[in-house]
Amino acid sequence: MKNACPDAEHPSNSQSQPHRVGFPTPAGIKLRAFPADRIRYSNHQAANLSGTFVLYWMTAFRRLGWNFALDRAVSWAEATGKPLFILESYSLWFPWSSNRHFYFVLQGMQGKAKDLQTGPAFYLPILEHSPGDIAKLLSREVGQLVCVITDDYPLRPWQRQIRQIGESLPVRVEAVDSCGLVPLAASSRIFTRAVDFRRFWQKHFRKFLAAEPEPDSLRRLPPLQPASSSLVELLRQVAIDPERWLTQSEKLRALPWERKVFPVDLPGGTSPARKRLAQFVLNKLEEYDRRRNHPDLEGTSGLSPYLKCGFISTQEIFWEVARAENWSLDRCLQNPLGKKNFFGMGAGAEEFLDQLFTWREIGFNFAALSDRYDQFESLPGWAIQTLKEHARDKRSYTYTLSDLEQAATHDPVWNAAQTELVTTGTIHNYLRMLWGKKILEWTSSPEEALAFMIELNNRFALDAEDPNSYSGIFWILGRYDRPWGPERPVFGKVRFMSTEAARQKLKMKSYLDRFSPQRARDLHPMGDP
Ligand SMILES: Cc1cc2nc3c(=O)[nH]c(=O)nc-3n(C[C@H](O)[C@H](O)[C@H](O)COP(=O)(O)OP(=O)(O)OC[C@H]3O[C@@H](n4cnc5c(N)ncnc54)[C@H](O)[C@@H]3O)c2cc1C
Repeated sequence: MKNACPDAEHPSNSQSQPHRVGFPTPAGIKLRAFPADRIRYSNHQAANLSGTFVLYWMTAFRRLGWNFALDRAVSWAEATGKPLFILESYSLWFPWSSNRHFYFVLQGMQGKAKDLQTGPAFYLPILEHSPGDIAKLLSREVGQLVCVITDDYPLRPWQRQIRQIGESLPVRVEAVDSCGLVPLAASSRIFTRAVDFRRFWQKHFRKFLAAEPEPDSLRRLPPLQPASSSLVELLRQVAIDPERWLTQSEKLRALPWERKVFPVDLPGGTSPARKRLAQFVLNKLEEYDRRRNHPDLEGTSGLSPYLKCGFISTQEIFWEVARAENWSLDRCLQNPLGKKNFFGMGAGAEEFLDQLFTWREIGFNFAALSDRYDQFESLPGWAIQTLKEHARDKRSYTYTLSDLEQAATHDPVWNAAQTELVTTGTIHNYLRMLWGKKILEWTSSPEEALAFMIELNNRFALDAEDPNSYSGIFWILGRYDRPWGPERPVFGKVRFMSTEAARQKLKMKSYLDRFSPQRARDLHPMGDP
């Protein structure tokens, strides 16, 4: 699926890259109709009809509804009459795993454990300490697996898991894409401009919407019968109890992570995500277009950490907005393609859905199709050229990673944004752009700026590591943008942003007060989880 690349580590360079044609479905097994462009096969093995369970290995889409991967697993369970086992993992070996992310995910695990206490599927949460652990574990009881369904998420660590499990198990493994409205396989073109991607999804919107995941496919499964099998015993031995992990902080402290990335006070899971969505739609949607850029007005949804963890889907969000707007499909049929008023909804809803579908999903398009989504060389040619031409320009300030991490620059607005990131795990979107632009301005080269942005964003942000981490960071350096004039020191033709202009334009007085680094240090002494 990905374009060729010299990256030897990348799964697409392996012989066993997931593919679109699977081993034929066994005779007599009737699976529900399913969008073919959402499935890839991680090996060429048959399903094992004498197995005991259909296994859904949940790694990215951490929700029990509106989830194509879950729908597919339910369909296999129905068709074979075998119970569904949902194994949800958190991978300690992923590059940006931390107490902050894990704590957020754990709360979601706790919710799912409660929801599935009495069925209709078995559920166990588990930790993966090293690459391939879960594949090895399952291979010990592979005879009990009918087939494995897992999540198809386009970033490298997830792709590595998909490849490893396919290689390890002599049974059918399907990777299912539930990333968003637009299937990852919908186009083989990398969109380099938002306007083209907007036009593309709008053109196919009816088709994408018609093939949406089910709000609650689990309801189709029969009640669970108690089961004891060697697979269940094996998984129970290694499963974690989210309740205990959440209440015994020494367990989190014992993990081999730096303590600066402490858990934050944001509830994780699908219920909190739905609550946040409902409040946003009720109180903020109408004025989203006017309020979203002002830090003091807190006019955005705050949904990105929930989307990143897969606690909620774009389709569910869309329908919540559509209901509030009394929307029906015929309202968008006459509107010209490529514009933001596509749906025929209010200005707030139009702007919000444009962020959700155009800006969020263009990042998935890039990550799914380019092996180099996180490499400097993936920038447009004009951006590489102009940044290189200005790489040796004199900088007014240069800061080390440690200066930046500690919000110790001369600029109070930047320091506040960095403090928000470190203490809450989020940054207001407008200030996030300014935050990145200043890192470019204050580091010794664009490559160093890129490395620092990735490090700080992915380490501290609850909505990272996500395709949008890279689209946001690379936007700072020119991806999805065009050359701007006048040419400036350090930036060259890359778009410039100034703190002074932001201060004049935006309401941020109480934001600056709330996130003054000193206040934050008093609240959260560094290193204390
Ligand atoms: C340097 C930099 C780094 C970024 N890193 C991340 C990241 O790690 N993870 C992440 O999800 N987003 C990232 N973004 C994009 C953006 O900052 C966040 O998606 C947005 O601030 C999330 O806030 P919200 O949920 O309140 O958004 P809302 O304004 O409520 O928008 C709704 C949803 O639309 C999507 N969205 C909104 N703005 C953008 C945008 N500019 N680009 C892409 N999608 C968008 C998000 O999924 C968001 O949750 C980054 C942007 C920059 C400039």
